[in-house]
Amino acid sequence: MNTQSPVYTQKTECQDCYKCVRVCEFKAIKIEDGHAIVITEACVYCGRCVEVCPAGAKRVRNDLVRLKYMISSGRNLIASVAPSYIACVASSAQNAFINSFVRSGFIGASETALGAQSVSSVLKENIRYGEINITTCCPVVVEIIRKYYSHLVPLLTPLMSPALAHAKQLKNTFGKDCEVVFVGPCIAKKIEADRNPSLISISVSFEEALSIFGDLKEEDSAEFITERAGAGNYYPVEGGMIRTISEARHADNCYMAFSGVDEVRGVLDSIGGIEKCKTLVLELMACRGGCINGPLSGKNKSFLSKRMNVLQKACERENIVASVFKDITAGWDKSCVNTNVYREEDIAAVLKTTGKSREDQQLNCGGCGYDSCRDFAKAIIDKKAERSMCVTYMRRLAQKKANALIKSMPSGVVIADDSLSVIECNLNFARLFIEQADTMFNARPGLEGANLSKILPANICSIFLNVIRTGNDFFEKDIRVENKFYHCSIFLIEKGHVAGGIFQDITSPMMRKKNVIDKAENVINRNLQTVQTIAALLGENAASTEVLLNSIIESFNASEMREDEDE
Ligand code: SF4
Ligand code: SF4
Ligand code: SF4
Repeated sequence: MNTQSPVYTQKTECQDCYKCVRVCEFKAIKIEDGHAIVITEACVYCGRCVEVCPAGAKRVRNDLVRLKYMISSGRNLIASVAPSYIACVASSAQNAFINSFVRSGFIGASETALGAQSVSSVLKENIRYGEINITTCCPVVVEIIRKYYSHLVPLLTPLMSPALAHAKQLKNTFGKDCEVVFVGPCIAKKIEADRNPSLISISVSFEEALSIFGDLKEEDSAEFITERAGAGNYYPVEGGMIRTISEARHADNCYMAFSGVDEVRGVLDSIGGIEKCKTLVLELMACRGGCINGPLSGKNKSFLSKRMNVLQKACERENIVASVFKDITAGWDKSCVNTNVYREEDIAAVLKTTGKSREDQQLNCGGCGYDSCRDFAKAIIDKKAERSMCVTYMRRLAQKKANALIKSMPSGVVIADDSLSVIECNLNFARLFIEQADTMFNARPGLEGANLSKILPANICSIFLNVIRTGNDFFEKDIRVENKFYHCSIFLIEKGHVAGGIFQDITSPMMRKKNVIDKAENVINRNLQTVQTIAALLGENAASTEVLLNSIIESFNASEMREDEDE
């Protein structure tokens, strides 16, 4: 049995875009150390996250190595091939695809549609008249009901899925030693196999099976083992199951089919509102349009042609009568996912820490992957989300940090745009260039919107504009303004739009003192480097070398200090 979940995240590839969180109907994904991890207990294996992940980080477990091992170890394998192969495998290769199982060492390939026919046959006899019946061949729907609508579990028809029914039927015919390999378009079938290893040993996609067979040429016919299936071939399209139980229909009874996770949820949500009905049979499938659009169905054919191909083939075979296997009852246990009740004060506390106490601060933008700021707050309480997922919170945080840094810098700092309008500056900048700077700065903190050309001399402004326009990243120079010298560093922030400047008054006594200290440090560093180089050349232990070095250092120091004094 495989212990790895059929859907997982390749952590190193995750780019923290939260697209998977956004599309997951059950928010079965938590952010851990910046990576979006699938919460196995909450996941229903619909595969939506895999489909949308732009980085290829959300993945479906690949069972190819295991399958190859099973083949090479000479086991009695039988392929149970889902009827959607008509939609998913190229028409010209379909017969060769079926025949390739025998060539690869399988006992043969059999149609899962046989299991579907057994399900339909038993279902017809077990419809609970005067009640609501939820019937499905889809393990995702079963997971949704078990985990999120557990009060509706009693409405599920107590029958195995066609794949499990078929596997049991095959074991009944070929003996318990044979091993069934399900081949289909479905991720959730992998978990169904994991949970029922005595019936299905492994579940692989059409693509995984095709990769073993290599290039397939057109062949005249396909040889299935046991018998050919008839109306069971309708199952992969929405409404296919209901179609096979049509004789059971009656004017007083209502049969309806729905597909797509959102539609399925809509139906399950509204069941409570149904007044006393006579008989309602609901066929539910998680993939829009049915298994022909399964997550592993391949996207190389149009939805219309897939549906058309399946319906045509099913119609051709509709009247084939196959034997019915009736020992397929199943029971469903509940597996409720913890649905917390959140205290209003806890939600408010989290909203406060993300700067969303007021309703107008709750943008509900969905950037974090959750539909609303409140849902995001609940996910934080559940430890599924981190505050850093909120774009506006992070933006405000970054702004605060930048403000604090600019404010604490001893130099004058200004950021301006391409029209020389000040975006932000600190008080030290204002004090360098503006009279009564404190008063002005208090009246307009950061001097946002002030015109830089009215604050700085024209030559510095033109350097600013030049850096913005040319995109030259950095400009550094000492510039004289009236009777003062300023050390100016002007750097690009966004080409064509924004640049920043750092200014130091190097004529001030503080700066002069600092310059002297910098020069002294420079001399010491250069001395040390020279000494190290010479020591390496001559060998460190020689006493004569030490004497020589000391004299070199002394003479070097003396000459450097003289240079300094001359300056
Ligand atoms: S979709 Fe999810 S798994 Fe993929 S990169 Fe974005 S956050 Fe990561
Ligand atoms: S497989 Fe479906 S339920 Fe599971 S995490 Fe992905 S989107 Fe959510
Ligand atoms: S509808 Fe989709 S998820 Fe459900 S059984 Fe078919 S392929 Fe699998």
